[in-house]
This record gives sequence, C-alpha cells and structure tokens, in this order.
Amino acid sequence: MKLESYLEARWQSGTGDGRALVNPVTGTEIAHADTTGLNLAAAIDFARHAGVGALQSLSFAERGALLRGVADVLQTNRDAYLEIARENSGNTKADASVDIDGGIFTLKTYARLGQSLGDGVALVEAGEDQLAREPVFFSRHFWTSRPGVAVQINAFNFPSWGMWEKVAQATIAGVPSFVKPATSTALLSQRMIRDVVDAGVVPSGVLSLLCGSANGVVDCLGAMDSIAFTGSAATGQVLRRQVAGKLAPPRLTIEADSVNATIVGPDVTLGAPLFDVAVRETANALTLKAGQLCTNIRRIFVHQELVPTFEDAVADKLAKVSVGDPADDSTRVGPLVNLAQKNEAIANIGKLKTEASVVAESSLPTGLESGAFVAPTLLRCADLKNAQAVHDIEVFGPCATILPYENLDEAIALGTKAEGSLALSLFSDDRAVQEGTFLGLGPWHGRLMFVDAEVGKAHTGHAIVMPQCVHGGPGRAGGGEELGGLRGLRFHMQRSAIQGGPTALSHLVSATVETNL
Ligand code: NAP
Repeated sequence: MKLESYLEARWQSGTGDGRALVNPVTGTEIAHADTTGLNLAAAIDFARHAGVGALQSLSFAERGALLRGVADVLQTNRDAYLEIARENSGNTKADASVDIDGGIFTLKTYARLGQSLGDGVALVEAGEDQLAREPVFFSRHFWTSRPGVAVQINAFNFPSWGMWEKVAQATIAGVPSFVKPATSTALLSQRMIRDVVDAGVVPSGVLSLLCGSANGVVDCLGAMDSIAFTGSAATGQVLRRQVAGKLAPPRLTIEADSVNATIVGPDVTLGAPLFDVAVRETANALTLKAGQLCTNIRRIFVHQELVPTFEDAVADKLAKVSVGDPADDSTRVGPLVNLAQKNEAIANIGKLKTEASVVAESSLPTGLESGAFVAPTLLRCADLKNAQAVHDIEVFGPCATILPYENLDEAIALGTKAEGSLALSLFSDDRAVQEGTFLGLGPWHGRLMFVDAEVGKAHTGHAIVMPQCVHGGPGRAGGGEELGGLRGLRFHMQRSAIQGGPTALSHLVSATVETNL
C-alpha cells in the first residue's frame, strides 16, 4: 500500500518506492511512503492562502468548536486506531492509549481554551504604560495571528499525540497546520487525518499531511511560517542550520532528546508511602511504551543507603513483566518500533555498561527472535565521579540507570550533567529538599513534578505531558517550549507593542480579548 499525502486538499503520492513501514513484531511490510515529485512549495502556498483565510475568519471560540469536532471524529474511530498502533508501532493497548487518548485529551483541552476566549481574533495583555509626560500617549502589548503555515515535524513515538498537540495550538492561534509524521509510524497519523477530512469538520487548507521525506521543506518557508520540530538533536541541528541560512527565516522551535531524571529524596525509606510510589514510577519508566517516551526517566538518583532495597523492589516488579506480542492481552511490554531502533537501543545499553552494571533484566519472549524486542533493563552506576555516558546517552527504550548519591547537593550537581532536560521528578516530603531541587534544577528543566505524601499516587506520571503545562526544555532538550495552556499560542502569534492615544488604544482593546500569554 502506498501511503498518500494530503496536499492542496487532495490525496497524492510520490512516484518513487519510498520507505517501508513495518510491523515490529514480525518485520512484515505494511505500507510505503514516498514524496518524490510532490510539489511541496505549491502545497505550502495552498495552505498559506486557503488555510489562513479559513481559520483567521473564525473567532477563537469557533476555532475551539472546530477542534472539538476533530476530537469527536477521533473518539468515534478509537478502536481502529488502537489496532493500527499495535500493528505499526508495536503498542499494547495501554501504550496506544497514551498516544491516542492523549491526543484527543489535548484537542479537547485546547477546544475549551479557544471557547473560553470568545468572539475575538486577537489578544491584548493586561496593563498599559504612559509613555509621554501628558496622558495622551500610551502603549499596550497585543498579539495577532501570523499569516503563515505551521510545519509540524514529529518523532516516531507519538504519531497521534505529537501531531494533535501541535495542531491544537496552531489552530486556536489561527494558523494552518502542515503535518509531517515520522515515516516509520505514519500509518496512524494518516488514518486520523483521513477520518477528519472525510468527516468534513475542517475547512480546506487548515490541515495538510506529508507522508515520507520532508527534505527541502525549509526552502519553501518564509518569515510568517514556522517549524515545530520534535525528534533527535541531530536532525534538530540540521534544521537549525538550514533556517539560519535564510534572510527572512521561519520561526523554529525544537523539542529534542534528553536524559531526564528522578530523585528519590534522602528522607524516603522502606515502608514510607513514597517508597512504593517511586518504585512504581521507576517500573513504569521501564515498561510503558517500551520506554520510548522523550520525557521518560533515564537516570534514577537514590540515596546510597536506600539503593539495595530500592533495587530489589524494582527488580521484583520487572520479574513479573511479560515482554511479547502486543496482540496478546497479557503482554505488558511490546517491541521497539523497528529493528533499527532496537539495534540503536542495544548499542547504547552496551555503552552504558562500560560505566554501569546490570541490576535486573526481564526475559525476552521466545519464538519472536526476529522482532524488535529489547528486555527492560535496570542498571546501576557505582563510580559517579568518573561517569559521563549515563548523563549523555539517551537509550530510547526500556532502560534506566540508578545513581547512588551521598547527599542532595551531589544529586543536584549530577542532575545538571545532562545539560538540560524535559522533565524531572522528585519524591520527597522534606520542604528543604524540595526547595533545593527547585532552585538547583529548575533552570535545567522545562517541567518538575514534586510528589510528596499529600500527592501520593494521585499524580499524572513523570513522563506524561499535560497540555496545561510547559513541554520542552533548555539546552540539549532543544530550548523549545510547547503547550502550557494558552501560552502555547505564542509561537504562532506576533507580540507587538502598540503605541498611541487613549481613544485609538481603547478602540483596539474593545475588539480584542484580554489575557496574559
Ligand atoms: P528523527 O530521526 O530526528 O526524526 C524526527 C522527524 O524529523 C521525522 O519526522 C523525520 O522524518 C524528520 N526529518 C529527518 N530529517 C529531516 C530533514 N532533513 N528535514 C525535515 N525533516 C526531517 O527522530 P526520531 O527517531 O523520529 O525520534 C526519536 C527522538 O525524538 C528521540 O531522541 C526522542 O528523545 C525525541 N523525541 C523528543 C520529543 C520531545 O518532545 N522533546 C518527543 C518525542 C521524541 P522521517 O521519519 O521521514 O525521516
């Protein structure tokens, strides 16, 4: 099957063979995606005109209603998506739910945010400044929608959520989306867009889809366009260089890889409620989506006295985990997305083993040797003074490393060695530990999750990205920022200081919605 792209409001496919999408359990080819000969420039131009015209004639509330319509279509077809996620991504139902339900939830959240903004099409920040001696000249900050296209390049691990979280923000901001899923798992993205197009809930030009290579896309973009990229730091660098070479460059935001951490506080002991919560979260990191989450815990800082007990508790959980075909309901951990990812994960585990030893490892399934399976593996790095690979190497699979620390200052200093990450979690009831972590590691992370006895199990999970909160991180994580509620609109809108007299400004203010982005 040739996976068609949706460009200029029609389904088209390239003239070449393209790349194969496979079932990671069996290696069977499911589809091919190719963009040879497709006119990218014309497709982007179509979205820029038809899509901008359609979306920017709608109010925020109407754009919210549009997203709600998309979410309803997806909800109706959910069962088909679970099946595609199993076949093309090797997802169990729980894994697929994070991606599919996460995407629908994010769309609904942004639908509500759009509706809460009402009939306006531009935003104004609260507060004004008097600029001249006489009270006749003031300034206020306004936000208007950029008349461009939002090119959205996604990683293979979230063909649904990764796509919809970007579409949701752009749509409310009034900017059409040009979606480019990772080729290896594009089947789910393509089926979802097809269902939405068939349902007729989105005006022409608002959604475009490119299945296959996007090489050359930067050449088609101008000052009012944008690229929201999620993927590896290496591809992010390529795009950075291409964008930097343009005189009037598109905006670029990058969500790249990171070696996220969790800290089990020095106050946590065996028998304390937080002990079990931290063990559960660590086990989740080694099982959910076979560890293929960008926000996943890769380093686990545990006080050295607690390490043996903590390791035993995680090892107990891993011993009960079944790795295998996600078609089997008893399977907890499916394969990685393909053999290339398996080989890379195994090679990277090998590099970590030069600094760390294996504490626990699940068994691999028998009879499925040709599948892309990697055993959930817990490592321990004992010689922290000389270790660097554990802070540098992201194993994009079910592997994490315990780092025994002496005191909180040491854990914080080591936490920074990953050079900037997406997410950190802390399990502690000690207010001084919380404050030290907040001040010491806040600047190095886009999101910090503090779990104490009051929160207990009632949290959303270290790796789960909530649309209300910032997603992104400094340094190696790409320096980008997405989501964060309405603040996610900032990337697609222009903030301008408008200077003028009180009558002109109050006239503009009456036509806009006051909110602080
Ligand atoms: P990748 O190889 O960098 O690919 C990411 C996307 O970029 C794919 O859609 C790919 O298309 C596209 N691409 C590659 N070269 C391109 C070019 N020259 N121009 C335009 N697009 C290009 O990353 P991946 O292997 O899919 O994803 C795994 C990585 O993503 C992991 O390191 C993970 O940490 C990171 N990730 C980060 C986040 C986050 O939010 N920070 C979320 C998920 C994953 P093709 O597939 O067609 O090559």
